[in-house]
Amino acid sequence: MSLVRSLLDAVKSPPAPPDPPAGKVPAHGWAPFDGPLAKRPRNRAEVVEMFGDPTRGGLYMRKADPTWVRLSIVECRGPDAFLPVLAKAYFPVHRLVEPYMREAFRRAELAAPGYIGRPGTWGYNFRRIRHSVTGPLSYHAYGIAVDVNPDDNRAVTFMPGKTPPPWSPEWNRIWPRGMPLEVVEAFESCGFSWGGRWKGFSDPMHLEWVSKREAKV
Ligand SMILES: [Zn+2]
Repeated sequence: MSLVRSLLDAVKSPPAPPDPPAGKVPAHGWAPFDGPLAKRPRNRAEVVEMFGDPTRGGLYMRKADPTWVRLSIVECRGPDAFLPVLAKAYFPVHRLVEPYMREAFRRAELAAPGYIGRPGTWGYNFRRIRHSVTGPLSYHAYGIAVDVNPDDNRAVTFMPGKTPPPWSPEWNRIWPRGMPLEVVEAFESCGFSWGGRWKGFSDPMHLEWVSKREAKV
């Protein structure tokens, strides 16, 4: 039954992009995606309020609370064009962010065909920031962040004032197959913040569903 359903899902044509509302058209042409959540979280406290606490108040720290995982984490199906045989390319995310993630991937695939979805693209991962031992939980641990094509978009730390602007000649030299502007615009139109805009620690693989950066990775 589930195979039949996934086959049916695969042959359904993706919905057309929503028409931009009059007078509110971003420069890149995508209308803001109107998903099920009223607002994006601005900080960690609001992230926990909206998406729950995978540590259950600190009871779980080496792994996520299995009850939270069962209630919260779902498979993001990525671009609707993916076929069932490519199911390994899907990745886990929080169920409340999944509609935004799926639409962002759909828009990115339309704007920059073939760029996203290379091996390594991944969302939910219960870990601390920058894989540290004692730092705060990464937003990946809440299922609200995704790393796109990590092999081509590795994080780099720069001296103060030395972070190259995205898509400048220096940026293109460091990340020759880095995130295209069209992909970033697709994600930003769906409410994601991009780690490639961070100064000092630039993480261009990273996109998170948080309105303002509070923590790194
Ligand atoms: Zn990341």
